[in-house]
Amino acid sequence: MSKDFQAPKGTNDIVPPDSARWLALARSAEETFTAAGYDYVETPIFEHTEVFERGVGEASEVVGKQMYTFVDRGGRSLTLRPEGTAPVVRTALEHRLDRGALPVKLFYAGPFFRQERPQKGRYRQFSQIGIEAIGADDPLIDAEVIELAVRFLRGAGVQPTLLLNSIGHLDPSCRRGYLDVLVGWLRDHVDALAEDDRAKIDVNPLRIFDSKEQRTIDAMQDAPLITDHLCDACRKHFDEVQTLLRDVGVGFEVEPRLVRGLDYYTRTAFELVAGGLGSQNAVGGGGRYDGLSEALGGPPLASIGFALGMDRILLAAESTGERDGGVEVYVVAIGERATTEAFKVATDLRRAGIGAQFDVTRRAMKGQMKDADRSGAAWAVIIGDDELDAAQVTLKDLKGGEQQTVGRSDLVRTLEERRR
Ligand code: AMP
Repeated sequence: MSKDFQAPKGTNDIVPPDSARWLALARSAEETFTAAGYDYVETPIFEHTEVFERGVGEASEVVGKQMYTFVDRGGRSLTLRPEGTAPVVRTALEHRLDRGALPVKLFYAGPFFRQERPQKGRYRQFSQIGIEAIGADDPLIDAEVIELAVRFLRGAGVQPTLLLNSIGHLDPSCRRGYLDVLVGWLRDHVDALAEDDRAKIDVNPLRIFDSKEQRTIDAMQDAPLITDHLCDACRKHFDEVQTLLRDVGVGFEVEPRLVRGLDYYTRTAFELVAGGLGSQNAVGGGGRYDGLSEALGGPPLASIGFALGMDRILLAAESTGERDGGVEVYVVAIGERATTEAFKVATDLRRAGIGAQFDVTRRAMKGQMKDADRSGAAWAVIIGDDELDAAQVTLKDLKGGEQQTVGRSDLVRTLEERRR
């Protein structure tokens, strides 16, 4: 294949049979989140660049180094969305969803773009599923959001570890005060840090906790921790979130070095990690972003949400090998006359909500039976001249092998009964 016709570096095609797992995951997200009162939202794949510069923060790695930004023919600076929270808050403000009952509870799923160095579990186009609860500051909503993330992942076949922290709020009595202490400590220990991390002291000191450099990781073991510098209100909020999670049996580990990379986070921050993924072991993360609405020109709206990486969930999930939905019945036609009848039977079954397929290439019976096995169907409906004349079909259980004769007009009812 010519190099010109390969998918761009860092992107993936989603093709059968794997694509069925993607659909099943999206369906399960819809079921889980709508059942908890979250409504679907879809935003454009590109936004004005300022949405991310203001909403995520120019000092963050995502905005500073990873965005696909371009100038369109009208001279506007646009960016392929690298994350979903800033666009969802932008849309909530634009459509005044915050004027109704609060919190506004939304979920989304779709592609996101970051120009990172591709490796297993890290791509330039990837898919996220996320929820946002906009306009609520009670620890109850933190616990609801986190429980949903954990339950959704378990349902998808991932056993995540929940890492939990509070990064306080931007006030001298809380995170700002802590940052002064941290920056002071970092300046005293600058020689112990990896060279690449030293410049972050003045730009984004919290990010130094995220360093992948062993030298820095070792040095940061002794760094002052945010959890020792929370104000009373943030400490109380964090304690309540932990109590509520225990109340609903969600296990967690407090990880005081968990800071997350995006500037708008306040108070609760969490990450979900899973085994089997190598170095890219985060299947999702989230937290509070009480300052984001105001950063985008809106009113104060305390909010919390998460984003889960679909690509990584599917890498981490045990593949059950079971097909979800799909073809249940394969209609086999023997002879010319039966071919049209097979089309009619398959159409009747589909209209009754029973997945059905038939052969459009007029193969001999043996070829059709092979195709029936390949299709994953549980039953074959076989139609030959005898069946046609008697207005009947032969129903064959493809796993057990038994067959029975069923009246043509009883087929849908019989299959519905056998399905249960
Ligand atoms: P973040 O917005 O960075 O917190 O990302 C949330 C989740 O999205 C991560 O935990 C990953 O599962 C997934 N994710 C983020 N970036 C990528 C990427 N470049 N490739 C694949 N998945 C990603």
